[in-house]
Amino acid sequence: MPTTSIIVDIEATCCNDASFPRHQMEIIEIGAVAVDSYTGEFDSEYQTFIRPVRNPILTDFCKELTNITQDQVDSADCYPTAMKPFREWLASLGDYDFCSWGDYDRKQFVQDSEFHRCGYPFAGPHRNLKVEFAEAIGAKKKMGVGGALKHLGLEFEGTPHRGIDDAHNIARIYREMLAIRGL
Ligand code: AMP
Ligand code: MG
Repeated sequence: MPTTSIIVDIEATCCNDASFPRHQMEIIEIGAVAVDSYTGEFDSEYQTFIRPVRNPILTDFCKELTNITQDQVDSADCYPTAMKPFREWLASLGDYDFCSWGDYDRKQFVQDSEFHRCGYPFAGPHRNLKVEFAEAIGAKKKMGVGGALKHLGLEFEGTPHRGIDDAHNIARIYREMLAIRGL
């Protein structure tokens, strides 16, 4: 296992009804926290907003869910431009695993990279921490981030559904998971 694990959580354009199909969703925030794979110790973090191009106006539902404002995405770079500094940050970390809670974040990067024809940004393999956590605690049912924190007796820190805050909270779960595995 590489010594660095990068825990990534994205937010994307969305709506609460079927008028907004999944294949049209676009990343509007990347939150990423790099930790030591073996201790979970914090290394560095990266956050950026991204301006969506297919549905540039955020729905009220999306703004309420994520607390991301129209101004924040309007003043951000579009996906291909935003990927350049993100790729540089990833490259600066050496070998790494790309970790996320579930498989959604990975799939959304594949979708946006294909749509913009700009190449998938991650060199390292993907780890699904939702599956790993369920295995670590011996649970048959996989949990959301909130459920996992509750299971650990922890409170969410920051704003739920903000990419960078979600990533930090998943990093907290990751550290607890290492401790559980080490027992
Ligand atoms: P999360 O990391 O849980 O904040 O979710 C990532 C993205 O999934 C959000 O930015 C939304 O685009 C979408 N999403 C999450 N929860 C919902 C929901 N209840 N209804 C519609 N879309 C959602
Ligand atoms: Mg999130």
